[in-house]
Amino acid sequence: MSTDVEVTGLHKSFGDLEVLKGIDLKVEPGEVVCIIGPSGSGKSTLLRCVNLLEEPSSGTVRVGGTELTDPDVDIDAARRRIGMVFQSFNLFPHLTALGNVTIAQRKVLKRDKDEAERIGRDNLKRVGLADKVDSYPAQLSGGQQQRVAIARALAMGPEVMLFDEPTSALDPELVGDVLAVMRKLAVDGMTMLVVTHEMSFAREVADRVVFMDGGVVVEQGPPSQVIANPSQERTRSFLARVL
Ligand code: ADP
Ligand code: MG
Repeated sequence: MSTDVEVTGLHKSFGDLEVLKGIDLKVEPGEVVCIIGPSGSGKSTLLRCVNLLEEPSSGTVRVGGTELTDPDVDIDAARRRIGMVFQSFNLFPHLTALGNVTIAQRKVLKRDKDEAERIGRDNLKRVGLADKVDSYPAQLSGGQQQRVAIARALAMGPEVMLFDEPTSALDPELVGDVLAVMRKLAVDGMTMLVVTHEMSFAREVADRVVFMDGGVVVEQGPPSQVIANPSQERTRSFLARVL
């Protein structure tokens, strides 16, 4: 199941600092949108506003027709429809891979142990870790830990997945396995919003690339346009630094 996301007129300030200055962004069901841009441009804040880890100062966020910014909406229920993967994996060190992938299913979704474990194993298999169910985080590489974090998010049955620089903390040789899992997810039709510096991933997988700078969307379009032939000077100078 996948759904759409629509951000309209989104502003976010921290005190006097206006970080998001009116973002409009629509992600279609099953679409993969990669967000690129310099550090401090508001990419993480945008993702965090999409699942209401941050409260927008103004503007609306809609997921599958439900307006998350509506004060009457059940935020916890709405948030459950959105999976998020961060740069840091944040696994529980005292739980195995399977334990990490089942705990929220049991506590939040109230699934019984057998069902949570079945779904947990399915999702660990989906990210290529069928043989690591009983391993603790310390016994796993960074790339494997990040794949556990992806499985943990998927086990909750999200309709949309948000990724915030999921490979930035990884040794270069471990990046490929994580990107491969994300590529598969994209092919399976998941709606994905991905903040990344991996231009090759954006070029190959993104339906659309959004370049942000200074809290605004400077330009967006297919990768063949934004990455290969950007129209804005700010995009060109950013790409010259990262490519
Ligand atoms: P990016 O992910 O593009 O690097 P961020 O969204 O993390 O950018 O940050 C954009 C700006 O917002 C930065 O100047 C950052 O310091 C500021 N910022 C982010 N979160 C907070 C916060 N919780 N409180 C104050 N300032 C913040
Ligand atoms: Mg960030």
